[in-house]
Amino acid sequence: MKGGKILDFIQKELNYTKKHYPDEKEFNLNELIPHIIFARKIEYTSDLNFEDSFNNFLSRIYKGFEPPFPVEKVAKAIGVKAIEYYELSRKGFAVLFHGNWYIGVNKNDSLIEQKFTIAHETSHIGLNYTSNKELLPLGTEDTCDYIARLIIMPSYDFENNAKKLDCDIEKLSGLYSCPSYMIETRIEELKI
Ligand SMILES: [Zn+2]
Repeated sequence: MKGGKILDFIQKELNYTKKHYPDEKEFNLNELIPHIIFARKIEYTSDLNFEDSFNNFLSRIYKGFEPPFPVEKVAKAIGVKAIEYYELSRKGFAVLFHGNWYIGVNKNDSLIEQKFTIAHETSHIGLNYTSNKELLPLGTEDTCDYIARLIIMPSYDFENNAKKLDCDIEKLSGLYSCPSYMIETRIEELKI
């Protein structure tokens, strides 16, 4: 099977969840994998690591665009039918309704928070955990935040700009329309 590194990544996430939340229901990875939309979309890039596989996937979607990148196009690419804006007591949600995925966003949040929410909920759908609450591992929120950062700040683009701007958090926050605490995390995780 191709996409070994991606499956390794997902396996690592599941192992982390099992270790830290031992009472969680057992996962059957083989059952889970066919439902992971991201893995299906990017598995053909084979032996690259997760970031590089995502770079390939995102650079196709973002072709011709400069930051801030249109994250809605990623949502659309994995089959989201519509993004809708509501007054919510939370940041957002993803829901499968009559066979179609929808993303709901809190319209009272700032635009950069809304953008992050769209990327975060897209990640839930891409990992397809939200369709089955019993399969929702507690570690998924961190995983979805990580993938959201990847969607907003793909490393093929972000690394250059972060170096060019001397890792100036405020400037990068403006450039990528991303909350500054997520810019900080992105710089740390890419070891820039
Ligand atoms: Zn979430």
